Amino acid sequence: MNQVPDQAKPVRHILSLSGGKDSTALAIHMRKTRPHIEMEYVFCDTRKELQETYEYLNRVEAYLGKPIIRLNAKAGFDHWHTVFGGYLPSPQMRWCTKLLKLEPFEKYVGEDPVVSYIGIRADEDRVGYISTKPNIKAVFPFKEDGIDYAGVMRILDESGIGLPPYLKWGRTHSGCFFCFFQSPIEWVRLLETHPDQFEEAAKYEKTSEDPGKSFTWVQGMPLNELREPKNIAAIKQRYAERQARLRKQRGNKGLVETLGGLELNSEAPRACLICQL
Ligand code: SF4
Repeated sequence: MNQVPDQAKPVRHILSLSGGKDSTALAIHMRKTRPHIEMEYVFCDTRKELQETYEYLNRVEAYLGKPIIRLNAKAGFDHWHTVFGGYLPSPQMRWCTKLLKLEPFEKYVGEDPVVSYIGIRADEDRVGYISTKPNIKAVFPFKEDGIDYAGVMRILDESGIGLPPYLKWGRTHSGCFFCFFQSPIEWVRLLETHPDQFEEAAKYEKTSEDPGKSFTWVQGMPLNELREPKNIAAIKQRYAERQARLRKQRGNKGLVETLGGLELNSEAPRACLICQL
């Protein structure tokens, strides 16, 4: 049964950073426009994040001048992977988000009345994790302030923090290095940029004649197959063709006028907000 929030307690203000550009820009924006708010910054760390994410968060922390509290689940990914009998998480079975991101966040919040700041932009129409706990109220300052994709880019640029560094090698979002929300081209880039992490991701996979006992990150293509030169070439070609199509559709419109530049590059479905804002 849901607990009734304790009205007598002071309200806490929590901004959950994912290591992505939008939540980072939101933290910077809030500090600049509402400096009176005593903000708590948190990061739900699965311990399987990209190295670049950890480095970026250290820089953001120095800029904010306040610790970003790292929240870890009591038991990590490997523990739950065993508990789930080798079953890898997927968009349909997102046990990782629940156990490694949401639960540590809700545990940290406890029963205190909390305002949770979410970095969904004014130009976005997506919904995501909003806690069902009655003591957590989600607010969307970018929507209130009309900050869109261009606005986020401006905030990051003017602060000197810039974009998350993994975007440089073509990963489009934060989150675990093996995140199943990656598109095939992102897997190729992971292989080319962080072969050790690609290897580690491949070790979690299990293939069997029985499809019910095959667990792979990309449906129907184990990473050991994806890494074959002919498959890499096919993935790169498909990606280039798709980019050409998108460029054509975009016509004379600027990148920012369409979906918001970076997102255009993503072939992957949008993932959970707590991992990837
Ligand atoms: S980043 Fe991906 S793999 Fe990691 S917890 Fe989120 S959904 Fe799961």
